[in-house]
Order: sequence, then C-alpha cells, then structure tokens
Amino acid sequence: MSIEAIIKTVDEHAVHDGPGARALAFIKGCNLHCKWCQNPELIKFEPQIWFHKAFCKGCGVCEAACPVKAIDLNADAMHRIDREKCLGIECSKCVRVCSYNALQTVGVKITAEELWRWLAKYKSFYQGSGGGITLSGGDPLHSPDFSAEVLELCKRDNIHTAIETSLYASYDNLWKVARHCDLILCDIKHMDSKKHKEGTGVSNELILENLQRLNADFPGEIVVRVPLIPGYNDDEENIRQTAEFLSPLERVKGIDLLPFNNFPVTKFEALGIDWEYTNVLSQTDEQLNKLHEIVKPYKAHCTVGGMW
Ligand code: SF4
Ligand code: SF4
Repeated sequence: MSIEAIIKTVDEHAVHDGPGARALAFIKGCNLHCKWCQNPELIKFEPQIWFHKAFCKGCGVCEAACPVKAIDLNADAMHRIDREKCLGIECSKCVRVCSYNALQTVGVKITAEELWRWLAKYKSFYQGSGGGITLSGGDPLHSPDFSAEVLELCKRDNIHTAIETSLYASYDNLWKVARHCDLILCDIKHMDSKKHKEGTGVSNELILENLQRLNADFPGEIVVRVPLIPGYNDDEENIRQTAEFLSPLERVKGIDLLPFNNFPVTKFEALGIDWEYTNVLSQTDEQLNKLHEIVKPYKAHCTVGGMW
C-alpha cells in the first residue's frame, strides 16, 4: 500500500529549486525549529488552521460558529484564535462558514502514488527545459518512507529528482531517500554546534557527518545553501569556516549564500505566532559582496541568491 503524508501543495512552475522548470512539492513536518523559518506552516506534521487577515471582513460568522469560543472578534474587529482552546482541524467549523477564505486549512493527506501522479502530469514540460521535480518542506527526510516512494516512482518515470533538506536524519533514512535523487540541496546554518542548537533546536554534528558520508556515497550533485541570518551566522568567520569545511567535498558543486528576507511575516501572523525577525532587515549589498568574495575561492559555483 502506498505510504501517506501531509503536504501543503505543489508549485507547478518552480524555477529556483534545481535546474530547469520544476514541480515543487511541500511536505509538512520538520524536526528542526529554526527561528527564522521561511515556511512556519510546514513545521508541524499535521494539518493546521490559519487565518489571513487581509481577506477578513469582520462579519463574525466564525465567532458564532465556534463551539468552544476560541475566536474573539473585539470592537476593533481584530480577529484572534485562542490556539489553546481551539479543537483544531477535526473541528474546522470556522473554516467551513467563512465565505471569504480568511480561514483556511493548510495540509492535505496524500499517498506517495497520488503525489507522483500529480507531479508526473507535467513530465514533458520539465523534460523540455532540463527540469524535474523537487521535494521540499518541512523536510522530506522527516517523512522518509513517503519521500523515498515518491522519488522512486519519479525515477522509474525518468524524471529528474531533487530534495531540499537540512540533512538532520539518521544516515539510514537519509540514504533511503538520497539514493533516488539526482540532486541534493542542503543547508549549513552554522559551523558552531552551540550556535546551531540555539538557532535551530539541534546541534550540527549529525548534519556535518551526514554531508561527509554523502560526499563519499552519493553519485549525484550536492549544492549547499547558507541562509544568511542577520547577527546569527552572517559574520565573515562563520562563512569562511563553512567554505573551508566544504572545500574538500568533491560532490559539493556549489555554495549559495541566501540573503535574509522577512517575507514570512504574514505566515507567522496567520498562525498566530509572534516572530522575532518581523522587523529585521536583509544584509546590505556591501555585506553580501564581502561574503561572496570569501566563498568564491573554495568552489567553482558560488552565488548570492541561488544557482537557479
Ligand atoms: S467568518 Fe471569515 S470574514 Fe467573517 S470574521 Fe470570520 S474570518 Fe473574518
Ligand atoms: S477549528 Fe473549531 S474550535 Fe478551532 S477556532 Fe475553528 S471553530 Fe473554533
């Protein structure tokens, strides 16, 4: 029987997550808790309810429908959900009664076979552009059996396959998935283990060891991405140490430095979470150029902003 997982959606026209035109599937569930997460709606494995204030008309229908009075529309029509009281996705009464799509569920159950059929619909489109499919998240390694099945079906179908991952998984689970991949896009978030744990909730030893083992075993290409987080990992010393670590790893084709952005602020609002990076600005061009100059001598392909 085909294995199930919860996905958010498939972006059928992705162009930044591997070569060519791609379909990008977002699988829910991640075992890291990066403070700067760009996809907070994908951290939990289960479906969730989120609220989009831009669509809300303040009509109050959801407040009246809620059986546990978890919704509060105060005099200023500020809509709040008490997430402690909310019965969650099993209830969803507020979602059903909102005529304006201000309340939505994020996450649908799907089998690996169903996802492969969805992805495979666009096969000729990918192949014409040298593209394929990418599993993202969340983290596809944190739903390893599901991801492995999707990727194996795609490979049998001659579709180019990639994953985006933190590499935080047992090597058995990593290899179960990686052996069906042509390309692995992975992050290094900090070279200092203590700082890594402060920022993500986990230390970095397993990630660095997995990358070294993968370098020996994986026949495809690896691209390492460093999400540049202001004041956390974007100092010259950390970036130099990252490049030095990657330098001898032959499978690592390139290093992408990804400038910070605070675009996920509306996602955090929709989930009712205060985000400490709401007002944090991106690095300046001058800072980015300096960091780029540091990594360039270590790999043939080093970018600011991504290879694709
Ligand atoms: S039913 Fe929808 S539009 Fe009306 S108050 Fe609730 S969320 Fe807003
Ligand atoms: S899901 Fe149910 S319990 Fe939760 S806010 Fe909506 S109506 Fe209330």
